[in-house]
Amino acid sequence: MFGIIDNIKKFYFTRGSIHPKQNKRTAPIMVFPGPNPEKVTIPLLQHTGATCEPLVEVGDRVLVGQKIGDSEAYVSAPVHSSVSGEVSGIINYPHPTGRDVLSIQIVSDGMNELSPDIKPPGDPFEMTPEEIRRAIREAGIVGLGGAAFPTHVKLAPPPEKPISTLIINGAECEPYLTADHRLMIERSEDIIRGALIIKRVLGAEGVIIAIEGNKRDAIQRMREAGQNEGIHVVALPTRYPMGAEKTLIRTLTGREVPSGGLPSDVGVVVNNVGTAAAICEFFKKGMPLVERIVTVCGDGVAGNANLRVKIGTLVKDIIDFCGGYVGKKGKLILGGPMMGLAQYTDTIPVIKGTSGILVLRYENLFVKEPAHFTCIRCGRCVRHCPMNLMPFAIGMYADVGIWDKLEQYNVNDCIECGCCAYVCPTKNPLVQLMKVGKEGLARRKKKIEELEKAVSGE
Ligand code: SF4
Ligand code: SF4
Repeated sequence: MFGIIDNIKKFYFTRGSIHPKQNKRTAPIMVFPGPNPEKVTIPLLQHTGATCEPLVEVGDRVLVGQKIGDSEAYVSAPVHSSVSGEVSGIINYPHPTGRDVLSIQIVSDGMNELSPDIKPPGDPFEMTPEEIRRAIREAGIVGLGGAAFPTHVKLAPPPEKPISTLIINGAECEPYLTADHRLMIERSEDIIRGALIIKRVLGAEGVIIAIEGNKRDAIQRMREAGQNEGIHVVALPTRYPMGAEKTLIRTLTGREVPSGGLPSDVGVVVNNVGTAAAICEFFKKGMPLVERIVTVCGDGVAGNANLRVKIGTLVKDIIDFCGGYVGKKGKLILGGPMMGLAQYTDTIPVIKGTSGILVLRYENLFVKEPAHFTCIRCGRCVRHCPMNLMPFAIGMYADVGIWDKLEQYNVNDCIECGCCAYVCPTKNPLVQLMKVGKEGLARRKKKIEELEKAVSGE
């Protein structure tokens, strides 16, 4: 059993990591409402886990907050309509992950009429943990930091792994992104209340709110909001990827999540500040997760802003709302420049995990022609890897498809933070090679299992 942290500062250290240029130009800009889209496209998969089944048909009228998709699988989360209007299509549509996903298209009537089902589920401090988890599931709440893991699953660790410490992650170490920063300034009380609800569900002994030290205004606001609740608000070193779950746990508690393990293995659960605020809002108003804050940024878009965006709004509509593209289009990334996903089209919808829309001009990009892996053995990638891996070795074996070596080099511990690629002088596409390596290893393992089954006659 892990106890509560008694002296947080003694664990401060930054193994690996980098210090990229912050570019957080939108930090002083208040969040304001995004566009009122004429049409939304809401994917039935916006989370880690099973895809939802549609609960509506083409021609149905739907209202804001109405559940339009759900799944019987435990690891999944329902999806809700973000506008009122008519279902115009249920089609496979491009998704931010790069593949086509079954999605519900709704033509908005512009009225934003609320579903009559929207009502607070009750006082969370009177409800049992199981009732709270069920309510959170019904609200479709998932981790808003990017991974979009269903929150009701995260809040149900196995009974043999009691949780001593809840960490609320406000690090937001990705360059450009400031959605969490603004949230902490503008809705600090909601984050604290959400954190207290999560603490109650987990039975945690203590709560730490972790914020990078460069966000002094957010630290002050969170300290003021949490001062009577016994919540520690901690200023972290400003290093990337300080907000990665395992890095955060190691930095704050000195505990090492084992290879292939989960934070609950060391008595910790980590939730994003956005998730805590979404939980608070749901228990206050009964509104499921139909909107989120998105940072629109970069030198390739006219206006940089933090917008409250309806889920399912197309990126193109948001860019038009911000004044359109500037200069020759270079890269469109959903998320930050380090861990975000580059897109081939802007007709993709904002989903629950979309924290930012980054547009970079062509002339400001470093574009390297695809080539074979070229390593001068400088060792920089090893020095800067926060997971203690040997990226050059993994990259080399992934490049030539020697999959069994990748297991030996723990490719699956890679968090795809991009530090290795950032520091590599020969600009090897190390993160892509990590992804290729993980997929290749998984394929190989599956093949071996199938062969073993065939040999044993099962
Ligand atoms: S992307 Fe993976 S290998 Fe590269 S630095 Fe990050 S954790 Fe290490
Ligand atoms: S940083 Fe690049 S060149 Fe240096 S060892 Fe790593 S892969 Fe090789």
